[in-house]
Amino acid sequence: MYKDIATPRRTKEILERYGFSFKKSLGQNFLIDANILRKIVDVADISPDTGAIEIGPGIGALTEQLARRAKKVVAFEIDGRLLPILADTLSPYDNVRIFHQDVLKVDLHAVIAEELADVSDRMVVANLPYYVTTPIIMKLLTERLPIRGMVVMLQKEVADRLAAKPGTKDYGSLTIAVQYYTEAEVVMTVPRTVFMPQPNVDSAVIRLVKRQHPPVVVDDEGVFFQVVRASFAQRRKTLFNNLTNNLPGGKENKEKIERVLVALGIDPRRRGETLDIAEFASLSNALAPLFG
Ligand code: SAM
Repeated sequence: MYKDIATPRRTKEILERYGFSFKKSLGQNFLIDANILRKIVDVADISPDTGAIEIGPGIGALTEQLARRAKKVVAFEIDGRLLPILADTLSPYDNVRIFHQDVLKVDLHAVIAEELADVSDRMVVANLPYYVTTPIIMKLLTERLPIRGMVVMLQKEVADRLAAKPGTKDYGSLTIAVQYYTEAEVVMTVPRTVFMPQPNVDSAVIRLVKRQHPPVVVDDEGVFFQVVRASFAQRRKTLFNNLTNNLPGGKENKEKIERVLVALGIDPRRRGETLDIAEFASLSNALAPLFG
């Protein structure tokens, strides 16, 4: 077994050898605690049948832990300066493929079809760059990829939003999207001290396991997410005001919207954050004929 990359000493040594300087704008906070990385791999349930997909391998700290347990690892790194470093640090592993790419621009279906056709299980595992956490998660959720789910490290505050319950301050349109596609669970919180350099916030690891079927029946997903987004547009406003102000044609359909809410037994004066996903589903199904 080779030495772990994720120790303060080895990380410093690698960074010095290559004269690497961190780019804050790319969310570069590298993990320097191999035990935490092994726990992430455990929580993701990575086996010799798994194809792991990593976003932002950095200098390979998590990548090598994945390579030791998975059948294959495919990773996307945006920063070209890290490519020669990764070629060096990951040279002991022949089951890793690094792509120099922005994950937001990658055709993930095509890469999976090319690189991970021969695995029976696929999982995304990543210590995400914090400046783009939400767009990355939304891309992974909405593209309906052939994956089991994802285990990702992100800001604790965002993890709390993803797993929030109705009526709490963290509950919002991102919560509903995540709960529509997955079962979400915060599996550990991680102190800022295990990163180099240390970020300004604490982190958490969240596990999102894809649902076989959505938890609610939605007639039109486009309208469903439009209604959800409109309902949370201004958190201090009532549901009725948010829907009429933020749905296309909302102002002209004020009376109809009010009638729909009353018929569903949803008080128009409630705030969006008090509705659970089932209420959003029936609301969007009833509104779809007006706005679809
Ligand atoms: N996985 C490493 C670790 O745990 O130590 C590094 C994690 S660091 C938080 C995030 C990594 O994502 C950095 O290496 C950064 O260059 C890379 N990155 C940032 N934006 C990216 C993007 N849009 N696509 C792919 N990689 C990105």
